[in-house]
Amino acid sequence: AQGLATKKLGYPVYFFKETDTTNGRLRDIAAGGETEGAIAVAEQMTAGRGRRGRPWEAPAGSGIWMSILLRPNIFPSQASVLTLLAGLAVCQSIEEETGLTPSIKWPNDIMLNGKKLVGILTEMECEMQQTHFVIVGIGINVNTTEFPEGLMDVATSLYLESGRTFSRKNILQRVLLNFEKLYMELLDSHCSFAPFLDRYKEKCSTIHQEVKVLGKETFFAQAVDITPEGELVVIRKDNGKKEVVFSGEVSIRGG
Ligand code: ADP
Repeated sequence: AQGLATKKLGYPVYFFKETDTTNGRLRDIAAGGETEGAIAVAEQMTAGRGRRGRPWEAPAGSGIWMSILLRPNIFPSQASVLTLLAGLAVCQSIEEETGLTPSIKWPNDIMLNGKKLVGILTEMECEMQQTHFVIVGIGINVNTTEFPEGLMDVATSLYLESGRTFSRKNILQRVLLNFEKLYMELLDSHCSFAPFLDRYKEKCSTIHQEVKVLGKETFFAQAVDITPEGELVVIRKDNGKKEVVFSGEVSIRGG
């Protein structure tokens, strides 16, 4: 935790040279009683995950593969705001550290020039209406020079977009600091997303774009807004009806 300016996040740091997934590792550690703020960081993940079990490519030395343990007093149904705030924090941090201007693809990805730069995977342990803990996993492609064949069209890194390499440590520290600020503000606002809405929308590229919603039903729609709860408002192409899309339920293609 050397050089950290945070009060809570990053204490302690569990560092792994190689692990399957930092989210999974930190989940075990959390179940053992570890306190809020602990993080797991890996040089390489051998079985990184996206949502719905999709694989996350996390080669050695090229990116930031990190998970953060939180124990907020929050209903399980509200926990997805942590994904949104993590996205906002990472987006701000990349801007501050690199001068590049990525945007957020609602709810959980950060894009640069149309390709995925960052993935966020929030998982939680809860029972009925009670959240035991939340794990926010963040994967940032920093100095990655190439991706496996199938990913070259969809994934990118800070290096690939700028031709420069960056300090992973500086970015990681900045992300923790910015995320901690937002997290404290969230707790102060009794877990309401409303105070963050304008800031989020400013960085979100999904609004005004055409999206394909993959949920219980699949349909094309025009994204028009984000609600004060952090949900996406869309107008369906097939019947012109307005619908609210919950982040837990869907993947958005395009947008
Ligand atoms: P989505 O948010 O689009 O539903 P996920 O959050 O589930 O996607 O992330 C998994 C997907 O991300 C994979 O299916 C793959 O297309 C893509 N992917 C995997 N590894 C990386 C990476 N290192 N950088 C960018 N994209 C990746």
